[in-house]
Amino acid sequence: MTRFIFITGGVVSSLGKGLASASLGALLQARGYKVRLRKLDPYLNVDPGTMSPTQHGEVFVTDDGAETDLDLGHYERFTGVSARQSDNVTTGRIYSTVIARERHGDYLGATVQVIPHVTDAIKEFIATDPGEADFLLCEIGGTVGDIESLPFLEAIRQFGNEVGPERAMYVHLTLLPYIPTAGELKTKPTQHSVKELLSVGIQPDALLCRADRPIPPEERRKIALFCNIRRDAVIQALDVDSIYQVPISYHAEGLDGVVLRHFGLDDSKEPDLSRWTGIMERVRKPEGEVRIAVVGKYTALLDSYKSLSEALAHGGIANNVKVSLDWISSEIFEGEGTLELLENVHGILVPGGFGERGAEGKIAAARFAREKKVPYLGICFGMQMAVIEVARNVAGIQGAGSTEFGRPKEPIVGLMTEWLRGNEREVRSSADNLGGTMRLGAYECHLKPGSRVRDIYGADVIFERHRHRYEVNINYRDALESSGMTICGLSPDQRLPEIVELEDHPWFIGVQFHPELKSKPFDPHPLFSSFIEAAVTQSRLV
Ligand code: GLN
Repeated sequence: MTRFIFITGGVVSSLGKGLASASLGALLQARGYKVRLRKLDPYLNVDPGTMSPTQHGEVFVTDDGAETDLDLGHYERFTGVSARQSDNVTTGRIYSTVIARERHGDYLGATVQVIPHVTDAIKEFIATDPGEADFLLCEIGGTVGDIESLPFLEAIRQFGNEVGPERAMYVHLTLLPYIPTAGELKTKPTQHSVKELLSVGIQPDALLCRADRPIPPEERRKIALFCNIRRDAVIQALDVDSIYQVPISYHAEGLDGVVLRHFGLDDSKEPDLSRWTGIMERVRKPEGEVRIAVVGKYTALLDSYKSLSEALAHGGIANNVKVSLDWISSEIFEGEGTLELLENVHGILVPGGFGERGAEGKIAAARFAREKKVPYLGICFGMQMAVIEVARNVAGIQGAGSTEFGRPKEPIVGLMTEWLRGNEREVRSSADNLGGTMRLGAYECHLKPGSRVRDIYGADVIFERHRHRYEVNINYRDALESSGMTICGLSPDQRLPEIVELEDHPWFIGVQFHPELKSKPFDPHPLFSSFIEAAVTQSRLV
């Protein structure tokens, strides 16, 4: 029997609802239960794929090819459970489903309305294929009180009413701001936020109260009294030094116990949190430090590279070092003489990206890494730019470029118009819609025997997640390989180059996929572990 936990947020946004949900998931797992996490997003985009990463943060891609909210990345990193297409829905997708059904005649005779048609579609989504999950945690995006989230709140209210409190629980995340002049943490915004929830018929069962200092017992008592919540279910959620401390802290505050008791489950046995305490030990006591330059385009909002910065930290955990990141906007390398910013770093990473702006700066960074023998990891766009760099400056192919930026004389990187997904042929054209039409999700890749990546992965065949429209043109293989750049990972039909590496270099790898999406703190991705290991070696040289 699956139980449902709904997580809402109040007072302000950015309180870390995604992390809170992920941490609760991890705690329930540590208690021996199977979990699945889901997110309901209140915006009208059908998926976040067409949103700018500087507005909404990174787009997280699942194995089954969905472009989803970055919180699904937290869910995966904390629980290890691979998210699926059916774990993220937006208002846009719900409405397009309802409207398609209306056109199809499914509601014939009815006036189609938010209640019941939209709310029914939301409830259907919530309950879709929970698999073997004992607990399905469902996070509602946005902040209570937003117009946008009303249909979702109404739907979860109905859902809880239908399955009963023995199968549904509401957890609300709020903020207790500290007012320096009064010298107090204030409970009023929390009271108001709970009132707002009550006005749509939801009585929270537990409150997670974010605060920057311990909440005095008197304030807790007040919250319990005014919000009609048991005292032990008012949980303090203090700021912590690492996100991986959150499950440990929530457990210390009793969150998992409150949840289990709500459902009438035994909470007497302590959960096994050794996974998290082990990680925290390494995070707190590193044996060294490496500096990595991330040369990208969306450096103004670090959430744009959430999985990436996490995967780099995991590489640090694997090597017992702290990884410091220099976020550098590639455009500054398009001027004269600025490459000196890269002089003292121990590794250079060019991440995924779109569009021409800043591309030449990324090519300059790849050249610097190649010539100065600094470890280089190019991801997706970062691989494409490294290939163009070698084509131009080593193979001597003047005019080498990508068709993403117009019509280069030598399209080393070109638009992908057809490819195989298993045995299915996928076909695209430049006239296609932009939403959801990239090469998305997990694809098989065959590694070349004897290559560095074969050694790093310790496997001949790997599956990695993709999100791109362009690819390195296999017809340039000979030109690249005779310039020292080997294609050492290929699609099963040998037509799509997936990985390149430089032979005469300590560590220079470009991958067409996004390895950062699969890295976990307790299972760091081999490419990131190896990249950071190379950076450690480099740090001993400079
Ligand atoms: N813009 C490039 C493409 O579509 C790279 C995409 C990416 O880095 N994710 O192929």
